Amino acid sequence: MSGSLNWTAHHAAAGCDFFRERIRDPDAIHTLDDLRKLPLTTKEELREAYPFGWTCVALDQVVRIHASSGTTGRRIVASYTLKDLADWADMFARCYEFAGVTPADRVQITPGYGLWTAGIGFQAGVERLGAMSVPTGPGNLDLQFEMMLDFSSTVICATSSFGLLMAEEAAKRGLTDRLALRVAILGSERWGDAMRQRIEELLQVETFDIYGFTELYGPGTGIDCGRHEGIHYWDDYYVVEVIDPVSGRVLPAGEEGELVVTSLRKEAQPLVRYRTHDISRVFPEPCGCGSKYPRIARLTGRSDDMFKVRGVQVYPAMVDTALGRIEGTGSEYQVLLTREEGRDRMLVRVEVESATAKEVGERLRAALGVRPDVEVVPVGTLPRTDRKTKRVFDERV
Ligand SMILES: [Zn+2]
Repeated sequence: MSGSLNWTAHHAAAGCDFFRERIRDPDAIHTLDDLRKLPLTTKEELREAYPFGWTCVALDQVVRIHASSGTTGRRIVASYTLKDLADWADMFARCYEFAGVTPADRVQITPGYGLWTAGIGFQAGVERLGAMSVPTGPGNLDLQFEMMLDFSSTVICATSSFGLLMAEEAAKRGLTDRLALRVAILGSERWGDAMRQRIEELLQVETFDIYGFTELYGPGTGIDCGRHEGIHYWDDYYVVEVIDPVSGRVLPAGEEGELVVTSLRKEAQPLVRYRTHDISRVFPEPCGCGSKYPRIARLTGRSDDMFKVRGVQVYPAMVDTALGRIEGTGSEYQVLLTREEGRDRMLVRVEVESATAKEVGERLRAALGVRPDVEVVPVGTLPRTDRKTKRVFDERV
C-alpha cells in the first residue's frame, strides 16, 4: 500500500532508528497538517548517518547506491530498491513526455555516469520511454558532435553549463544547421533566462529545465511543460512544503521560501520533511497546459548560496535576472566579493556584446539595492565547463 504520507510515516519509523526517533506516532500522520508535527530533516543529519543510517530496508534489498559529490564534508549516500529504480525511471519517462520526447527520438546523454545519479537516471528514463539512448557522458566536444551528426540525435541532455558550451561550439564550427537537435533537457544547476535564450538561439532547440537531487532519487522528479511557466513536479511521488529558511515556519500558499520534501513511495530511503535548500514557491493556480501536476517556480537559488554585501541579501538569480533584462549583455558573469578597508566590495564581471559598464552598474544597483563595480568583457571570455559553473567567489575572511 505504498503512495501516501501514512505509509511513509509507518515505513520510515519501522525501518531505522534515525526515523523512529523523529516519528513517535506514525498513526497520527495522514495529511500535510499532520506532517508539521514532525521535525525537519537536514542535509547535515543525512551526512552524519553515513553510509546507511537512514536506510529503511534490509541491505540485501538494496540493489544500487549513488552518492553526492561531497565537495563540502562527507558524501550523502542514496540507496535504492528495485522498486525505487522502477519508480525513478517512470518519473523520468514522464519528464521526457512533458518535453515532447517520443519513442522515435534519439537522446544523447552527456551528464556523468558512475556514483553521480545523473547519467544513469537520464538513461533509465529514455529506455522506459522506448527512445534510443546515446550515452556519451560529459566532455569531449569532438565525440559529442560526431555522435550528434552520425546518429542524428534529436534530444540533448546536459548541465546548463555544458549546454551553453556545446551551443557556442556548434555555432563556432558552423554545425548548427547540420544537427537534428530539436530539444535540450538541461539541469543540475540554476540557470537564468538569458542563458536559456542564448542556448535556444545558437542550438536551434527548445530547452526544458529538469529538477531533482540525489536524496530524492536524482534528476527527473520534475520539469517544465511547453508553456515554460514553472516546473511541474510529481505529487504522486512526493509532497512539497515551503518554509521560511530562517524560522522554519511553514509559509502560506504561493509565498517564496525553502522547499521541504516528503517522499510518498520511496522504500530504501524515505525523505521526511527534508530541507532541500532550494528557494522557490509553489504556484497556487493550475498550469494553462491542463496538467494535473502542480508547479514550483524555477529556482531562485539555494538558501546556502545567498550572500550579503554591506548588509544586503543577494541571490545569484537576482544578478542574472537583472543582466537578462539589459540589452547587449551575454549570459555569463562572475561575482567577486572582497573586503577593502573594512568595507565589502562587489565586483561583477559580465560578458557583453554592446552594453557599457556604467549601464550595467546602474541596472544592477536598482535590482540588488547595492552598488557593484562592473567590469565588462567580450562574450566567450569567462570559463565554460562541462559540469557546473561556479559564478560567485567570496574572498572575504
Ligand atoms: Zn504546464
